[in-house]
Amino acid sequence: MGFLTEGTPLGWEAAAQFRAKVRRDGVEQFLAAYKSGLGRVDQVLRWGDEVEYMVLRRVPAPLAQQDVVAANGPARDEPGAVNGLPPMQRAGDGAQAPREFVLSLRAPELIEILQRDEHSHPEGGTVDVLWRPEYANWMIEGTPGVPYRTTAEDLCVVERNMALRRLEVQNILQPDEIVISLPAFPRLGCGQFTSPPTYPLGPVAQSLFVSDDVINPHPRFATLTRNIRLRRGSKVDIRVPLFQDERTPAAIPVITEPIPQWPGPERSSTASNDEREQLQNLRERAQHAETDDLYLDCMAFGMGACCLQVTLQTRDVKESRMLYDQLAVLAPIFMALSAATPIQRGMLLDTDVRWNVIAASVDDRTPEERDGLIAKSRYDSISCFIGNYEESDGIDTRAYNDLELEINDEAYKKLRSEGVDELLARHVAHLFIRDPLVIFDNRIDVNNAADMDHFENIQSTNWNTVRFKPPAVGSDIGWRVEFRSMDIQLTDFENAALAVFTVLTSRVILAYRLNLYVPMSKVDANMAIAHERDALRNQRFFFRRNIFHHASVQPPQSFLCSCGSEHGPVFDWGREFSCPDCDPSDPEFCGLLSMDEIVNGKLVENGFSFPGLIPLIKGYLEALEVKPETRAKIYEYLDFISARASGRLLTLASYIREVVTNHPAYKQDSVVSQEICTDLLEHLIAIERGACAAPRFLGSFGRVERDQSARPNDELKAEAREERSTDDDGV
Ligand code: ADP
Ligand code: MG
Ligand code: MG
Ligand code: MG
Ligand code: MG
Repeated sequence: MGFLTEGTPLGWEAAAQFRAKVRRDGVEQFLAAYKSGLGRVDQVLRWGDEVEYMVLRRVPAPLAQQDVVAANGPARDEPGAVNGLPPMQRAGDGAQAPREFVLSLRAPELIEILQRDEHSHPEGGTVDVLWRPEYANWMIEGTPGVPYRTTAEDLCVVERNMALRRLEVQNILQPDEIVISLPAFPRLGCGQFTSPPTYPLGPVAQSLFVSDDVINPHPRFATLTRNIRLRRGSKVDIRVPLFQDERTPAAIPVITEPIPQWPGPERSSTASNDEREQLQNLRERAQHAETDDLYLDCMAFGMGACCLQVTLQTRDVKESRMLYDQLAVLAPIFMALSAATPIQRGMLLDTDVRWNVIAASVDDRTPEERDGLIAKSRYDSISCFIGNYEESDGIDTRAYNDLELEINDEAYKKLRSEGVDELLARHVAHLFIRDPLVIFDNRIDVNNAADMDHFENIQSTNWNTVRFKPPAVGSDIGWRVEFRSMDIQLTDFENAALAVFTVLTSRVILAYRLNLYVPMSKVDANMAIAHERDALRNQRFFFRRNIFHHASVQPPQSFLCSCGSEHGPVFDWGREFSCPDCDPSDPEFCGLLSMDEIVNGKLVENGFSFPGLIPLIKGYLEALEVKPETRAKIYEYLDFISARASGRLLTLASYIREVVTNHPAYKQDSVVSQEICTDLLEHLIAIERGACAAPRFLGSFGRVERDQSARPNDELKAEAREERSTDDDGV
């Protein structure tokens, strides 16, 4: 998550005198990068994914838990079909002794080992995987050693590279450790959930549930955590609506499970006496408190969740700005497509994705700012589009920027005076309404003409759905857009499928010059919709009807509106779904579409149709020369996405809900007990390893590569390298 540097971070007070300077210099640094990158053109369009993993440990259940299990009989040892769900098969033989899962906090030492190859080849470009630390000590991030090209061949290497990453981690784990790609550990914050054991109520996060010892030891992370709390003036306060089952109580206690207490006489903690007293008070006050929603109280609940990101290089700055906007519109849609977060802190939620939890987990706004001065957390959906089109394109980006935008006036004036156009100046000036959260003492005076520290300081802590990345001065990397909204998926197959789908969607956007714009307020509405339980099957999203710049098809004689009635003949091709009566705020361009319709298209009577992203991509691929095996692999990804979007296959969130609610120990009270959690995780691990079919979740997709990933490491590496070197037409 962003850049790491040597040096010592200044405390919140000590940094105060430098914050204005960092912002001012940050704008200068952006300007230097922007100007030097303006004329830059890259012909080879590279891209890369980021996959975040967590490390689990299977530990013997404490005796109390074993008693519970014994009393419940052999149910959990005996795989059997439950209400049509596949048998709860498990990886390994963990079923013999009662076991449970905790988060292993060894990520920092594991990353050190994983990075050895990279560090012994400082010239770069020689390793297959780049390993990076993340916020929590159970997290490891892996990216391809070299960014991919957008060739059909390279799209087929992704999954194997992902499999290789998983193997590289698994190879250095202890026998009872497991690497898994899941957004949130289901019982994070319930009792003792880490190995080694950790104890909450530390001075940094002050969490009732999570210890400071889970925070990555690089000083940036604790400082970030502490400074968010100090700037905000209180602990972060995360509320997540609970799934209301038959026996879910109207209010639940804040503390649902005993808080682990430090067993020793005196804890070696940096907490002062004052702090200790304050923390004790916190605990006492929480003891009798109740909430309607699930209450979470620290950054680890959000930043400790794993995601899938895709970064795409574009030809030039103009293309980058266009792609940024188009992908921003798709961010909530792809988020719903990737939904994999139905549980937090041992409770079923009424939401399916991780996003809002992270947004609240780093919300550093003061009470006044939250009260209307600043609309969003620094982790949120973007607030303005930046595409700069030619007049002949017939697109006025400003028409879609319907949110009030808070900007840093000084930054805006500076940017405008240096020739930055209004749209981009507003975007950058909006980033700079935020304070720098971590300032390193050794990097205060830097060279604004060449260094990017202060720009990156602000940029990398504006955690938005998409990120516009200018090339650093003198860098050999071009203009990029990062797509950041997706939950991580359980299997390499799914992660590869979503990454490839993102890349191909981008290719189609650029090739066909698609116009996906809807008003920004509708993008925000889609963000909320995407959080809903099984939004993929139950909800519809605001989506643009005419997605082609230059409508080349005759207007239909009439159209079927989202209100269900027929209208027309009124609009151009593609503008059919929403009529002025149904949606007066935007009669022209957008209506409500289901995921199925957006991804797979929609046939409407009277010869009218909405094309759908996958049919567009397939049409695009048909026109290219691609080897049959390569095409077959890409089509498998597309067919899988298509099946999930249609609702025929479940998202992981929906699948997990089914597993939990069908578990014999589930009491219809939204509680995901240790026992249920253990069986769930064993089941997911078995699916990931291909040891258990999950027809409702994966169908028959993804088999082949999973078999291949069982082959030895070196062979895979050699193969990945070989594939990398073959040439093919770009897609
Ligand atoms: P961050 O966490 O700030 O996004 P990372 O270094 O973790 O940064 O990830 C960068 C991503 O960008 C990786 O997926 C990487 O493969 C990709 N990438 C690197 N170079 C390029 C490039 N020239 N074009 C496109 N993507 C790139
Ligand atoms: Mg990351
Ligand atoms: Mg990263
Ligand atoms: Mg990052
Ligand atoms: Mg990233």
